[in-house]
Amino acid sequence: MNTPVNNLFNELKKFLKDDQVTMNETQLKQHSKDESYHKASSPDIVVFPDSAEEVSAIVKLADAHNTPIIPFGLGTSLEGHVIPYDRGITIDFSLMNKVLEVREKDFLVKVQPGVTRSQLNKELKKYGLFFSVDPGADATLGGMAATNASGTTSVKYGVMRDQVRDLEVVLADGEIIHTGNLAQKSSSGYNLNSLYVGSEGTLGCITELTLRVYGVPEHVVAARASFQTIDDAVEAVVSILQAGVPIARVELVDEASIEQVNQYNETNYKVKPTLFLEFHGNEAGLNHDVEFTKEIVSDHGCKEIHFEEDNAARNKLWDARHNLAYAFIHGSPGKKQMVTDVCVPISELAGAIEHARKKVDELGLDGGILGHVGDGNYHVLLMIDTSDPEEMERADQFNEYIVEYALQRGGTCTGEHGVGVGKMKYQQREHGHALQVMEKIKLALDPKEILNPHKLVHKKRRIL
Ligand SMILES: Cc1cc2nc3c(=O)[nH]c(=O)nc-3n(C[C@H](O)[C@H](O)[C@H](O)COP(=O)(O)OP(=O)(O)OC[C@H]3O[C@@H](n4cnc5c(N)ncnc54)[C@H](O)[C@@H]3O)c2cc1C
Repeated sequence: MNTPVNNLFNELKKFLKDDQVTMNETQLKQHSKDESYHKASSPDIVVFPDSAEEVSAIVKLADAHNTPIIPFGLGTSLEGHVIPYDRGITIDFSLMNKVLEVREKDFLVKVQPGVTRSQLNKELKKYGLFFSVDPGADATLGGMAATNASGTTSVKYGVMRDQVRDLEVVLADGEIIHTGNLAQKSSSGYNLNSLYVGSEGTLGCITELTLRVYGVPEHVVAARASFQTIDDAVEAVVSILQAGVPIARVELVDEASIEQVNQYNETNYKVKPTLFLEFHGNEAGLNHDVEFTKEIVSDHGCKEIHFEEDNAARNKLWDARHNLAYAFIHGSPGKKQMVTDVCVPISELAGAIEHARKKVDELGLDGGILGHVGDGNYHVLLMIDTSDPEEMERADQFNEYIVEYALQRGGTCTGEHGVGVGKMKYQQREHGHALQVMEKIKLALDPKEILNPHKLVHKKRRIL
């Protein structure tokens, strides 16, 4: 049939191979959702380019047809980022999955956007190097850059934005640019790296990334410490940071979450507010840091701290932490996960978590709290029945309470997951007039609003 979508499909087939472009229902469905509770909506077409030139040709065609483009990594985002509410073409980057160059002496690596973080770390291990950012899902580096992802190690190594030296980006008109260079520092021009990191596919498609990597630390010690109250655990973290202990990871898991961890991983951890910690360095320095940490946590009422130096035991500990979201999903069949993501100044963290726990209980919701407490970012993992409008309403109300609490204290509505569609309603409140500046940037770089419409800033296009 001669419909506009069929015409577009035929045009795409002129320069893409048969298996690089599809309107297959299963594929459309797979690309209609992310890992969140947001309502699914299918694209018209899914494409699998394998070079920047192909991405550029696809975007040029979409521009000519005024058709939306939705960049897609692995679809693990949590705020509806990849859902094509206006249909259009989803660009799946899974064929662009090569580690292109490891520049050992510069501590840099050049990758295609579809490389996942675990794939990269497997490759880097051969060189005694590692990539630090570790979101709970095994996401792609393109998706991680586009959401400014972070994870358990950001307290020491920083977030995705701190790792990006250069990006190759296909703009809305199909032009290909580089946003940075290989130099360690630069005062040249506007900082386009920072603009594109966190832009959620709304300003361009990332087709190559040059990223910082680090030497694998000589010695690593992990620990699990349980406390009487969340407040004690958070105050212990503040004291550890104030004492200048160079901690590499520090994660808080509350009692409800420890119960899920125990069930899912068949562990037998004490059901108390718990800190998972990790120290990186040389053996002599670490011995000192560990002793100091023991003293600090004991001053905050910690009665049990358990250290792991062996590689397998450490991996088991961190797998338990990383699997937490899946543990909740596994423990609540039929329910969907809503994950809150506020970040507050560290001095406000204990109060914020206490407020969140009180509100979860008051609203009769089911969920646990975990936090990247070293940088003031915490999540409430709510398990909700999305077919129950009353429960959805309570969950939304809860999200609003804690976002408002964070904003009143100088925090942000999203520490790491991004805006997508879910956090758009807080943007004006958080950014004020700066939001209009962001909208101007969006319109300057994407005047037809074909790039991931209805996400992050502007809402001109009509939701079908
Ligand atoms: C169990 C679980 C745990 C998680 N834990 C964390 C966590 O600890 N920290 C954290 O930060 N996040 C976390 N997340 C969220 C998610 O993993 C991150 O947002 C991740 O960065 C998304 O990567 P992705 O490859 O799946 O991207 P997708 O979900 O496919 O896309 C995300 C966004 O990036 C855009 N995008 C993707 N590829 C490109 C590209 N090449 N060019 C331009 N734009 C692109 C998309 O359009 C979309 O807006 C978690 C998610 C789950 C399910």
